[in-house]
Amino acid sequence: LADRLQNTMAKIRGKGKVNEADVKEMMREVRLALLEADVNFKVVKDFIKRVSERAVGQEVMKSLTPGQQVIKVVKEELTELMGGEQSQIAVSNRPPTVIMMVGLQGAGKTTTTGKLANLLRKKHNRSPLLVAADIYRPAAIKQLETLGKQLSMPVFSLGDKVSPVEIAKQALEFAKKEHHDYVLIDTAGRLHIDEELMGELKDVKELSKPDEIFLVVDAMTGQDAVNVADSFNEQLGLTGVVLTKLDGDTRGGAALSIRSVTNTPIKFIGLGEKLDALEAFHPERMASRILGMGDVLTLIEKAQANVDAEKVKELEQKMRTQSFTLDDFLDQLGQVRNMGPLEDLLGMLPGANKIKGLKNMQVDEKQIGHVEAIIRSMTKVEKEQPEIINASRKKRIAKGSGTSVQEVNRLIKQFDDMKKMMKQMTNMTKGKKKGLGMK
Ligand code: GDP
Ligand code: MG
Repeated sequence: LADRLQNTMAKIRGKGKVNEADVKEMMREVRLALLEADVNFKVVKDFIKRVSERAVGQEVMKSLTPGQQVIKVVKEELTELMGGEQSQIAVSNRPPTVIMMVGLQGAGKTTTTGKLANLLRKKHNRSPLLVAADIYRPAAIKQLETLGKQLSMPVFSLGDKVSPVEIAKQALEFAKKEHHDYVLIDTAGRLHIDEELMGELKDVKELSKPDEIFLVVDAMTGQDAVNVADSFNEQLGLTGVVLTKLDGDTRGGAALSIRSVTNTPIKFIGLGEKLDALEAFHPERMASRILGMGDVLTLIEKAQANVDAEKVKELEQKMRTQSFTLDDFLDQLGQVRNMGPLEDLLGMLPGANKIKGLKNMQVDEKQIGHVEAIIRSMTKVEKEQPEIINASRKKRIAKGSGTSVQEVNRLIKQFDDMKKMMKQMTNMTKGKKKGLGMK
């Protein structure tokens, strides 16, 4: 989705004035992009209708920057499509709050149960109890117990000879006795939806009266994820969806359709196998990401957790005024290194997926060392105005940093690309008072 939409958006962005025919053409592109991304047909139809209405309206045609206005409309409607404001997690006024995790086999239920427990404790200071109620999949109980061990959290299990309903019942009693304020029930999945599974899940629901029923779906399964969500919702009445494996090469269509098809909000997204790879779902951020602005907010949030806020503010300002220099870049590299695996961060950089060289550079930690050495070998003026770096300067820099002229060239090119991306992004967010949303 991202690629196709990004190309379209790049085209639109350049437009001076648009007429109705232009809007029509843009909408055709957007429509194709969405369909290609596996978004539900009916969802696309309604979406295009809404955007078109707004796009040919006053709002866009009369504006001085119609291209940007169209993008704004598309972004707002995408956000709306994915559920508007982000959703909260329930808190029962009679603890424990019970969360039942359901979904097909392999969707990521057990992993997400662990991640969610981790998040509840870390962010909300809760004391969750994990409940192993998948008695069918070999080693499912063991898997949850291993996660519990990693988290140093208790896992309630009665082996695989006791029914899930009985497990849930005893787990609730145990949780009350031990003062756990959350109970997360990890249930069994099947390869496909079947009556028996649904019957059993209904029984567990009946008994445990969950405050939340989260469906865990694999984002990679595209349109199937939407169908699965639809049936689970019909049978069990979901309160939320967790979309997993968004770190992979997914098309994103599922995120767009699930809400409108099932009327159930996506509450969290899974971004990796590790226990901290779960994030609250922000429709607006997802829309930005889809539109190629990169997940700047998430990046800044991450940065805030790891570096001091002053520096981040400074960086944001520099990005906005385009006075970002190679020195800042160097500084950033150092800070980025503190933020965690580079691969995870890469996807959040605006347009990073478009810059092949940058991608390779970022992922290879060793090369980062080279990049740092190159920048350090530059003079102050060179760092501020890389355009003055001619052939002889390049030779000197390469020699000084123990690298090659090619590497110096590559870095300058990458930095240039990055600045272009920042400029693009700044243009898109300009005029919006919120800016990059520093709260
Ligand atoms: P379950 O059958 O629904 O309980 O699924 P599991 O929790 O056992 O997960 C199945 C596989 O998906 C495991 O290998 C997980 O590590 C992996 N997985 C789960 N969530 C994510 C995610 O967000 N990203 C990635 N890359 N892998 C995930
Ligand atoms: Mg499981």
